[in-house]
Amino acid sequence: MGILTRFAPSPTGYLHVGNIRTALFNFLIAKKSGGKFLLRIDDTDLERSKQFYEDEIKRDLEWLGIEWDLFERQSTRIDRYKEVFKTLKLQNKIYPCFETKNELDLKRKKQLNMGKPPIYDRSSLKLSKERLKQLEVEGEKAHWRFLLDSIKIKWDDKIMGKICIDLSSLSDPVFIKEDGQFLYTLASVCDDLDFGITHVIRGSDHLTNTATQIQLINILGGKIPSFGHHSLLIDVSGENLSKRLGSMSIRDLRSSGIEPMALNNLMSTLGSSNSPKLLHSLNEISEYFDISKFGAAPTKFDLKGLNLISSKILKDT
Ligand code: GLU
Repeated sequence: MGILTRFAPSPTGYLHVGNIRTALFNFLIAKKSGGKFLLRIDDTDLERSKQFYEDEIKRDLEWLGIEWDLFERQSTRIDRYKEVFKTLKLQNKIYPCFETKNELDLKRKKQLNMGKPPIYDRSSLKLSKERLKQLEVEGEKAHWRFLLDSIKIKWDDKIMGKICIDLSSLSDPVFIKEDGQFLYTLASVCDDLDFGITHVIRGSDHLTNTATQIQLINILGGKIPSFGHHSLLIDVSGENLSKRLGSMSIRDLRSSGIEPMALNNLMSTLGSSNSPKLLHSLNEISEYFDISKFGAAPTKFDLKGLNLISSKILKDT
């Protein structure tokens, strides 16, 4: 079976340079190996997801020449997620919870005050059958959490090297909200397994998600993809770049006249020990690209550097 990678943005805002790094890495890995690249739109949050942003995401990728071979949208897969939810429920791997957001906030505050980590205390897991029935009769809506095992999850990360995460240090993640909305973890694992994703490259902010996802994959009985977590980009002042703040959006870079190949060149080596080279096509870039050369330290993104490469490209043409 060939390599299949994916880029899975939520259509809730414009893409920024950090997102493009993820997209590009996945695209280049597929291209380098003659594999395929999937664009998956993570739009289970119907309220925040907008067709407008999906169109903008596609426009940004097209501008950069990052072409997808396959396309999927999570909102069309809800029935499948419901099936998986049923399977987990039958195995008692998922349990209903009734705390409100305020109650949870309060619990967290108390734990922090006592110098404890703010991990969900599983109160709802201790509710009696009678109480659960009563809550149902009263029409209380549950959100559902995934029951994490008290085990350590280990994997050999394509970028970070050997990783070990103790699941007992994490809160049981919510898989389904009170309103029935499927959250990212279940949906993402379900898709990665069903579509046969072989490599998942994403930001290091997903490291703990990966640990819970590996437990879920083990329960569902799928093949664990190769995981790689790249460092996050920081700006010159050391702040994380955030999509929601719209900083360094691709849209802005495009309208400011930046050459798309400047961004592709910069992103394919920034934060790696591969020395920068000015290459003229994504084919050449994919041949030169080497995921194993990237490091774990936060990577500084400087607009000046990007402008410089862009003017070089313009001069050459
Ligand atoms: N929709 C998720 C995000 O944008 C996808 C993360 C992943 O690649 O699994 O963070």
